[in-house]
Amino acid sequence: MEGNGTMTEDDRRVVVVGTGPAGAAAALTLWRAGIAVTVLEAGSDRARRGFTVRAPGLTLLRLRGSDLDYPHDSRQTTDSAPRWVFDLSPGGLSNHWSCAVPRFHPRDFTDGDALGEEYRWPLGYDDLREDYAEMERLLHVSGCGRDVIGLPGGEVKHRIDLPKSWRPVIDRAAALGHGLTSLPKAYGEDWTMTRAATPFNSYVRMIKTIPRSPRFDVIFGARVTKLEVCGGDAAKIRVHYTNEAGQERSMPAAAVVVAAGALASARLLLESQDRRFPEGLGNDNGLVGKYLHDHPLGKLAIELRRPLGIHPAAYLTRAPYGEVPPLSGVAGILWSGTGARLRSWLRLAPDQATEMGFSLFGTMVPDPTNRIELRKGERDKSGGTRISVKLRFDDACLREMDRARDRLMEILQSAGMAPVLKEWFVEKPGWAVHFGGTTRMHTSPRYGVVDAFCAVHGVPNVRVVDSGVFTTGPEKNPTLTAMAISARACRHLAACLRTAGR
Ligand SMILES: Cc1cc2nc3c(=O)[nH]c(=O)nc-3n(C[C@H](O)[C@H](O)[C@H](O)COP(=O)(O)OP(=O)(O)OC[C@H]3O[C@@H](n4cnc5c(N)ncnc54)[C@H](O)[C@@H]3O)c2cc1C
Repeated sequence: MEGNGTMTEDDRRVVVVGTGPAGAAAALTLWRAGIAVTVLEAGSDRARRGFTVRAPGLTLLRLRGSDLDYPHDSRQTTDSAPRWVFDLSPGGLSNHWSCAVPRFHPRDFTDGDALGEEYRWPLGYDDLREDYAEMERLLHVSGCGRDVIGLPGGEVKHRIDLPKSWRPVIDRAAALGHGLTSLPKAYGEDWTMTRAATPFNSYVRMIKTIPRSPRFDVIFGARVTKLEVCGGDAAKIRVHYTNEAGQERSMPAAAVVVAAGALASARLLLESQDRRFPEGLGNDNGLVGKYLHDHPLGKLAIELRRPLGIHPAAYLTRAPYGEVPPLSGVAGILWSGTGARLRSWLRLAPDQATEMGFSLFGTMVPDPTNRIELRKGERDKSGGTRISVKLRFDDACLREMDRARDRLMEILQSAGMAPVLKEWFVEKPGWAVHFGGTTRMHTSPRYGVVDAFCAVHGVPNVRVVDSGVFTTGPEKNPTLTAMAISARACRHLAACLRTAGR
């Protein structure tokens, strides 16, 4: 604050934690709104992020910088101790993702209402429409771009439809109330050679494009360990972190935007304990870490009588809302990609196959017993408090997965494809890596950690903006919606900071 009582840029400085898709959306939105931003990223800028070469329509080369740790034994189980997959590096899990970016459907925000107040989102599709479009423009989406049953079209840069061979299947799917279309995917740029293992790495595509200046900087190797609320209502936040040399550091901020991923963000709030917040920041009602959800992920391998096109990937939308119980939708994604295409060319059947597979992503009803907890006194490799992750798919949820498998087989059968089931299993909880719910949003602090603008109830200058804020977890891939929610929250935060500074 200057002597004349006017706020300086630094008084309005916002610290963003993390450079994954949610943090990148936050940093870019705040910077564009004229707010000074410091991004703290636990990963090192020297981390091996991989290498991708793309020419229009085709990823020619994709080298991974690091591998995620998957278990060999990942068959169906109700295991209540799933693994937590994360990557502490610039871009976070966008170093590994498959770039599928379907929008949520308007009904996805109200599907849980029938189950009670607890499952009511405080925002709806129309609140996100503008931010969905803005994020899609950054992601460079390829897809059909038209609305189909159960899936809004969105803004696509490259229109791409399913090949003709799918026509009878599309018709049979529609007759049963399903949409069947090309999967919307982010591809970053038409021609590209990038230091990232996926076509769209959020650090490379978004944060790296912002010129460094006193108004914008990124500190790498800065692992945030605690947020401390100082003062009364007009509180500042002190952000504590360890730097690359392992030294403890801190900095003041007018506001903090936490985007460390659904599990790490909840952990950071739980770790932020002091006299005012003895159970952790925003945890007065004991909700932080609870209501954890992930998509049950089914893998289906089949053989068909006639070939179908394998490029672009097909997306089968969920059963009609109302036909299955609330929060029980399941969508199917065809396995596709450059490897599968190359193999089809070697078989002299370009982009065609009779043997194919689908990933089925389901929904689970969020439940407070599914949660993360701090294992106090224990540290993980990164130096953070070790957590235990409790996550279980109940029988009803697994039944819906089987029902969705049968529906897909029925659609293919009635379209004359005579499908033969080769393999079917549901992965362990947590293996979709679509975590959400741990800092859920709700109008009331009784049911939610944050409000509709991602502000922690009672602490408006701490915002949590990743998929942890999802009130429920519809079957669609989460990242685009998390980015849109993050951008909306940060536009609101920028407006609040400007008003406070007048
Ligand atoms: C194999 C795979 C495929 C996937 N495919 C898809 C897909 O097709 N579509 C889709 O929607 N989603 C997909 N996902 C999920 C998607 O990658 C995540 O939803 C998304 O990356 C989450 O973004 P985020 O910003 O919330 O978190 P993250 O991507 O996890 O980023 C978190 C960031 O915070 C940093 N960080 C963490 N803790 C701290 C700390 N204490 N201090 C400072 N920095 C910290 C990390 O280094 C990282 O940069 C996939 C995931 C995997 C693993």
